[in-house]
Amino acid sequence: LRITVLAGGVGASRFLRGLVHAAPDADITVIGNTADDITLHGLHVSPDLDTVMYTLGGGVEESQGWGRAGESFAVADELAAYGAQPQWFTLGDRDIATHIVRTQMLAAGYRLSAVTEALCDRWRPGVRLLPMTDDRVETHVVVRPEDGGDTQPSAIHFQEWWIRLHAEVPAERIVLVGVDRSAPAPGVLEAIENADVVLLPPSNPVVSIGPILAVPGVRDAVAATTAPVVGLSPIVGGAPVRGMADAALRVIGVPATASDVAGIFADVLDGWLVDEADAEAVAAVESSGVRCRAVPLLMRDVPATAAMASTALELAAERR
Ligand code: GDP
Ligand code: CA
Repeated sequence: LRITVLAGGVGASRFLRGLVHAAPDADITVIGNTADDITLHGLHVSPDLDTVMYTLGGGVEESQGWGRAGESFAVADELAAYGAQPQWFTLGDRDIATHIVRTQMLAAGYRLSAVTEALCDRWRPGVRLLPMTDDRVETHVVVRPEDGGDTQPSAIHFQEWWIRLHAEVPAERIVLVGVDRSAPAPGVLEAIENADVVLLPPSNPVVSIGPILAVPGVRDAVAATTAPVVGLSPIVGGAPVRGMADAALRVIGVPATASDVAGIFADVLDGWLVDEADAEAVAAVESSGVRCRAVPLLMRDVPATAAMASTALELAAERR
């Protein structure tokens, strides 16, 4: 079974762990969001790719679901002592090694997809991990200045809005800088075309799945593939289970409900899973021509998450 998954960071990685458990013999390709990528202290950081790689490779800090286990922060402390900016994004010492290798390889002319493959040689995540693109794409958020006095909006990196400002400063727009001129990384379109199943895990629909589908050619490929496309709602009981996905939905004017999020992807979906708490959404989703079922969608542990993944594969098989 060839399964292709469009993935963000923490939500996607938890789901992938369950999927690998549910379908141990499947050939899984993960297309990772790289629009969260950011240059910090001269280093190219790819947060979502690393979260997938560390989680599936057994190197993640389990308590938070991202970053390296057993991390220390000597470099961050030294940088702070120099007053080096920014200080709202802390890189751990172990994690920095990954970013050094990535930055060095990129500087030597390797593409991000080749670099990701090299990093995965160490971590052996058990899936093929592809960045959505080898080109530079960055999610920026257009905000009003904090004092509110000046009316000129300014654009900041998504990470600054999310981490430093906790998504509390009202945003006018989310812009995927560079996406129009980007191309899918090698293997991305093929993985969608040749899949038996395409899955959209419970990832942030706006800033994780959104950028992947926005790479020219990707959304069309997901719509055109003969494989059934099944998604799992990241919204449970009207709220994101963890994190602030509702803040990003607010910016694009979509209510944080399981059925409204399905609506964002309606053109590509064959099936959609909602949590039992959102059973009333099933009829609305089905009326848009997408098969829908209500099942437990809390990724409490690996068995519970594997059960979610199995149900998604069953829903896909109903059409296959
Ligand atoms: P990020 O890039 O690290 O923010 O991670 P993702 O975009 O892959 O996933 C984040 C989203 O996962 C959050 O916005 C939540 O809506 C969703 N999420 C987290 N935990 C759960 C869970 O247990 N169940 C479901 N259904 N969604 C979850
Ligand atoms: Ca992310």
